Amino acid sequence: MKHDTSLRRFATAMPHGRGMVIGPLNQSFRAGNTIFPSRVFAPSEVRRVLKDGHQSRKIGRDVRKGPRRGWPIFTLTLEERASCPRSCAQWGACYGNNMQAAERIAHGPELIAALEDELFALARKHPAGFLVRLHVLGDFYSAEYAGFWNRMLASLPALHLFGFTAQDPASPIGRAVARLALDHGWARAAIRFSGAPHELHAARVIDPGDIDPDAVLCPAQTGATDCCATCALCWHSERSIAFRRH
Ligand code: SF4
Repeated sequence: MKHDTSLRRFATAMPHGRGMVIGPLNQSFRAGNTIFPSRVFAPSEVRRVLKDGHQSRKIGRDVRKGPRRGWPIFTLTLEERASCPRSCAQWGACYGNNMQAAERIAHGPELIAALEDELFALARKHPAGFLVRLHVLGDFYSAEYAGFWNRMLASLPALHLFGFTAQDPASPIGRAVARLALDHGWARAAIRFSGAPHELHAARVIDPGDIDPDAVLCPAQTGATDCCATCALCWHSERSIAFRRH
């Protein structure tokens, strides 16, 4: 089947299970940062911290399916490992190892200030609704940062989130992430816990050829859909989602 790739600038790469894996001898593995340090930027060094989904090969520019059709999609990419829990099961196999070109935004107070400005501007421009994919790389790096998103959801009814976290749901950061959906509903904050065992609200990585009976395989990885914009499963469904290892 030929896919319309006009929604995003880069074609989706099918997983093959041979992505780059770094081990404990690697400096980035030990220090907890990206293997591409020249691709980390301060918020003041970039025009916008939230990028159009069009710029990401897996996301797409705007929703093409369901009641959110037409809503624009934006993405936030942080530094992998530096913003992630050490307990992440994909610590050495992070997809970021294969994403040299990705522009990572350094996290901290400057990021939160830039995000707040941009989110208020987006809410004015898209009052009917818009989606933000958290985080293409990286994670909720503190409970305060998760609390920032909670405050934005409370302030901006147009804002809707989807994404994944490797934080332990029982940890202080994990509990602050879980609060997003508890306080605002899954429809506004569809953040899945990576590696969690549940049939709902989780995401899991499986090896090529394996199946996860308690999860739906990401349709973009099977070729059944083109990208998130044409799929919409992550924000429409509460079912857990499985991803084949890259
Ligand atoms: S399941 Fe659909 S919406 Fe979720 S990551 Fe895969 S393509 Fe995107």
